[in-house]
Amino acid sequence: MPRKFNAYCNKTRDHWGEKPSYKNVCQCAFSDGVDAIYNTYAQNSPGYGPGGWTGTPILAASLMMRSLVEVKMGIKGVLFDFDGTLTLPGAIDFRAIKERLGCPFDEPVLEYLESQPVATRIELTKILEEVEEDAARTSRPNDGAEECVFSLKKMGLCLGILTRNSLSSVELAFKNFESVSIRDFDAVITREDSLPKPHPEGVFEAAAQMNVLPEELLVVGDYRYDVMAGKAAGAKTVFLSNGGSSFMSPDDPEPNYTFSCLEELFEVL
Ligand SMILES: [Mg+2]
Repeated sequence: MPRKFNAYCNKTRDHWGEKPSYKNVCQCAFSDGVDAIYNTYAQNSPGYGPGGWTGTPILAASLMMRSLVEVKMGIKGVLFDFDGTLTLPGAIDFRAIKERLGCPFDEPVLEYLESQPVATRIELTKILEEVEEDAARTSRPNDGAEECVFSLKKMGLCLGILTRNSLSSVELAFKNFESVSIRDFDAVITREDSLPKPHPEGVFEAAAQMNVLPEELLVVGDYRYDVMAGKAAGAKTVFLSNGGSSFMSPDDPEPNYTFSCLEELFEVL
């Protein structure tokens, strides 16, 4: 039976040393009798200047929210797809790539390359990497992506990336982010590290590196392979439509949630 809770947050006057300060008190009262109380001191209180101990209402709210997350869904980490999820969709023109590689339109690129003789595969892989890196250089963070990463980290969640792209492309794309870097993620699993999605191997690998169970992960992505990989690993899944139409096929597993933008994640986290 799921734990129920009541939560409230208020601001009270307190003393730090001899001077008065303001304390933000957030409390969750759970139905099984376990209470969680978080206190933080307002940033303008004596002894806590900006950039010092993070005594802000945001921290109190974040810590409280973390408790709510664990109660609501048992989620301890968020595993993002990269292209079209953390970056704006459209940077990679898959149709043009397939044309250049001679890959049939109804076949995924990596699987097509895998089916080729070794010499051809090496040659086509070089072309693919060039095209991907060009796309990465011009890519931009998705709307709200940096704020989303920042807030999830504040909530104490582990973060990861699982992509069919290469590590060098991911690193290049991060150069166009302002406040978030690849170092903000506890796991970055690229096609060099595991079998590509929809195979669940990358989800298992990410979970191991993030030190959580696969079922404690929320897998977020803008393509059916993201949902398929997450579901096959036993994770909860979010299909991110980016305001467009769904790429899901009728026989695909249902995502737990379908959101049009990253901000909507906070409706369940
Ligand atoms: Mg994607």
